[in-house]
Amino acid sequence: MKKYQRLKCATCKRDIDKLVDVTHYTPDQCTITLGCEGRLQLLEYRSNAGIAVAPEVGVTDWRPRGSTAAQSKPIQEEQLIGLETGELKQLVLAVPFATAPASDAVVELELAVIADAPKAFRQYVFRKEGSFSTISGVESGLEKKALRFTAYGATPDVIEVFVNGVKREQGTDPEDFQVFTGSATGSAPPNTIVFNTPIDAPGVTQVDIVVSKEAASSAVTMTFLRNVADGGRSGAYENVSYVDRFMEGNWVRYYLFTLDLDDVTSELKLNSILVPQERDAFFLLARQPYTKVDRYGDIVVALEDLSAERDYIKYYAVDSVTTARVTESALTNLYPPLRFGKFAIESTIKTATAGVEEQLVVDGRVIIGPDA
Ligand SMILES: [Zn+2]
Repeated sequence: MKKYQRLKCATCKRDIDKLVDVTHYTPDQCTITLGCEGRLQLLEYRSNAGIAVAPEVGVTDWRPRGSTAAQSKPIQEEQLIGLETGELKQLVLAVPFATAPASDAVVELELAVIADAPKAFRQYVFRKEGSFSTISGVESGLEKKALRFTAYGATPDVIEVFVNGVKREQGTDPEDFQVFTGSATGSAPPNTIVFNTPIDAPGVTQVDIVVSKEAASSAVTMTFLRNVADGGRSGAYENVSYVDRFMEGNWVRYYLFTLDLDDVTSELKLNSILVPQERDAFFLLARQPYTKVDRYGDIVVALEDLSAERDYIKYYAVDSVTTARVTESALTNLYPPLRFGKFAIESTIKTATAGVEEQLVVDGRVIIGPDA
């Protein structure tokens, strides 16, 4: 039986698929474009509904009276902040030590490496009417694929379930779902999604299931060398031995270690995402052209509470120059600012240094006192 009808508006010339409802009267006013006074005309009966009304530029989609329009936010591209602090692409790590480490001390930082590439996935669409608590078998989508996945073992599939577009989590809470985990004690049979609470919504409920593989990750260890008094290298932190950070009423001393990014190019693949291991340490940041006034004393990248989805370092090339940049959400604001402990007294800058305009300058978002 064909369950859907395709209706087209005589005025705005857009079409919509609706369930055939022989028990209720439905007015034929246009429910596609907001404010359109056209009438809907039946084009054909169909066995499958289109996913949604295709949006059109310049018109607002119809919505039921009293409902609020979903605010469509423009997608903001994640800002990436350069981690380099000097001409040699120095990455500077601050690590706490109780006593000053020797001048040949090193700090090894382990990072998980994930390729920044789209991954293969399979998508299933199920449309269900009335109450249901399990999803299995052949999908309602056009390809008529049978739902198959293996959510256990060495390389388990990642199962994402969306009910009417809202993502559900895997788990034991009432609103979660469960899948077969390879053990006989689980409640879900293989290749089946079991909702802990039956889904009972009026009309048709669309369940989208996306099956993909976890992105493979490897690990790389970066060796940071202790900063030493060496006038030959140019960089914002080359003359800095340690920084003092104010934490819970005390100034804690963090010693600086540096790694030149070009020394590790053989170990890193371009376009990879790096997630540092969690530890009490932070990266220091600087603006170009990396003079002593270009240090950020109030913004650092702390290696705590990082999330692989949101806070990571991306290693890639801009205009064929390799760079390591960190997502803006990984930045941490400090107040009061860091105090810098220097090797040599820094002379006053007496000649003007040209700033670099083509860079992203971040500001601390901590507001002290009333905002004007
Ligand atoms: Zn219309």
